[in-house]
Amino acid sequence: MGLSRREFFKVGTSGAAALLLGFDARPVLAQAKELKIARTTETRSTCPYCSVSCGVIIHTLGDKAKNVTAQVVHVEGDPDHPINRGTLCPKGASLFQEIKNDRRLMKPQVRRPGSTQWEDISWDKAYDEIARHIKKTRDETFIDTDANGKAVNRCEGIAFNGGCTDTNEFNYLVVKTMRSLGVCYIENQARV
Ligand code: SF4
Repeated sequence: MGLSRREFFKVGTSGAAALLLGFDARPVLAQAKELKIARTTETRSTCPYCSVSCGVIIHTLGDKAKNVTAQVVHVEGDPDHPINRGTLCPKGASLFQEIKNDRRLMKPQVRRPGSTQWEDISWDKAYDEIARHIKKTRDETFIDTDANGKAVNRCEGIAFNGGCTDTNEFNYLVVKTMRSLGVCYIENQARV
């Protein structure tokens, strides 16, 4: 059987080469995969990227050992999830690279007015600054009554935009908090 170099690598990576050469490598590949995740802890989660909200299983290793930080070793589609039944699109299939990525931001950053640079700040400082900005902006933009003298009690200077991984419970608290400030511009991607 004639195979081009490109075809050889293509079928070789999928295991189909073995089939073409007369033996079935699929049980071996399945066992190798099983060995990789044999001792992992499975955590069910949701792909963070789009509103389809496919279910994923995150495999971590080292959870039960003393003095060991759990490491994510594999992410795959959840076959029991009613939305995707185990499948993932290329973005979801690359979730492992997002989790294990040295460019991933692990702390808050701020870009000061007029600056082109982001600077690292501590969580405590971030909370302080966010609270101070919210208080100042609300005080400056709160509207008690409209042009007809009707009470409206709204804050038009603040908006809240939620993330796609926010749960229904988190969004519930966000809406309660924002409404208590008088904020009316609220958006989120409620799906989990
Ligand atoms: S796997 Fe793809 S389709 Fe599914 S939620 Fe993630 S990005 Fe959306």
